[in-house]
Amino acid sequence: MNLLYKSTRSADKTVTASEAILKGLADDGGLFVPEYIPKLDVTMDELKAMSYQETAYAVMKQFLTDFTEEELKHCISSAYDSKFDTEVIAPLVKVGDTYHLELFHGATIAFKDMALSILPHLLTTAARKNHVTNEIVILTATSGDTGKAALAGFADVPGTKIIVFYPKGGVSRVQELQMVTQKGDNTSVVAIHGNFDNAQSGVKAIFEDKELEKELADAGYQFSSANSINIGRLVPQVVYYVYAYAKLLENGEISSGEEINITVPTGNFGNILAAYYAKQMGVPVGKLICASNENKVLFDFFQTGVYDKNREFILTSSPSMDILISSNLERLIYTIAGQDSEKNSRLMTRLKETGAYEITPEMRERLADFAGGFATEKETAETIRTTYERTGYVMDTHTAVAASVCARYRADHSDGRKYLVASTASPYKFIHSVMTAIDNKYADTDEFELVDELSRISNTEIPKAIEEIRNADIRHRKECDADQMKETVKEILGV
Ligand SMILES: *Cc1c(COP(=O)(O)O)cnc(C)c1O
Repeated sequence: MNLLYKSTRSADKTVTASEAILKGLADDGGLFVPEYIPKLDVTMDELKAMSYQETAYAVMKQFLTDFTEEELKHCISSAYDSKFDTEVIAPLVKVGDTYHLELFHGATIAFKDMALSILPHLLTTAARKNHVTNEIVILTATSGDTGKAALAGFADVPGTKIIVFYPKGGVSRVQELQMVTQKGDNTSVVAIHGNFDNAQSGVKAIFEDKELEKELADAGYQFSSANSINIGRLVPQVVYYVYAYAKLLENGEISSGEEINITVPTGNFGNILAAYYAKQMGVPVGKLICASNENKVLFDFFQTGVYDKNREFILTSSPSMDILISSNLERLIYTIAGQDSEKNSRLMTRLKETGAYEITPEMRERLADFAGGFATEKETAETIRTTYERTGYVMDTHTAVAASVCARYRADHSDGRKYLVASTASPYKFIHSVMTAIDNKYADTDEFELVDELSRISNTEIPKAIEEIRNADIRHRKECDADQMKETVKEILGV
């Protein structure tokens, strides 16, 4: 059966999976969603025995039905290889009474690698399938981690260029260095004078600019997106939830059919949406716990049914979650609106015009699979420190937001379930905040001096990604105002 995709904002048109991946965003500004969430067609017993790559095939073939077996398997084997520092790709680690699914073993040591190491392969395959001759220009707004993972994935990929916008001063030092030292003749990195939401809105506006699209086409270019609005990023993220459940089963940690709760540190709502899709595919998941930092717009939404981004934007120690407009939430809104694109469009228009919307009581009832929580900066730091003191395990700030929310939810509910936390970044990536949380004596120490200390106290190897940037040359120095992004893109492309 061929699974087709629709925009969340119009009912009439359908596209294939490869077309949806190529376009990134629908013409009407909506996000592509599958017409239905496919069920797994293998049993948990079969999944138990599978490698990460085999699981990836079993899951992704259900979504990307116009890719041949050979194409998809080639994409998978090209992505999940020695770029990851562990053969299992996504290891499960028991920390105290909670399972951490470590998603940071790829090239840029954050979970974005899980999808962005395969997206370039999916995209170039999709271009071939659809006889695209234009060069594909990947435009990406980043709160820090997507940018580097996308740059690493697309660097020197023939037929592509990539332009990344990040908020100046809104990312960690390691994140910034990772991006501005990126090699590859087809890569550009631009710091904007604004926050992540400005960067994301700017990129969306460029995508929706029909005149620019035409100018670009005349010059032999077309845009696509590496942000999690691209369905080609979401689908690979479903894989690790299926994989994690099967491994818990294989290791005898849970019994067949037992429901687990999953806590996800959330920003743009991509990762947790993938967990929701995994549940709909048939993985026994109880609650999906959405963890926010002090930018708790999603917590408030789950609490009240009102989404309201009109509030102060707070810079926290978990910058990849410093987001007030969670773009993937639109896919969930569309679902709980009963796949009613008109209803969804009305809410998104209200968001654009007033910065807020309220869902109906009926829609709220359909959110029963979700719970929301948030952690303050103090709670996040305490979670890092106390976990280290009790177990010796050092986690990053984003993961700590989730671990903190998870612990509180568990204490409040005593539902007897096992808890999985999506561990989204290596502590080395946010080393200054992590080490200061463990002991304030590190507050004034340079990030790179802390690397050896973290290695020693956590008994972990220094990741290659950190070694690489220690002495790398700065290759990107471009900056622009948030309202100059379109001009900057044209300048880079020479159109
Ligand atoms: C991107 C990111 C998140 C947020 O994930 P979303 O899919 O945007 O919700 C959380 N933690 C880290 C480390 C990230 O890079």
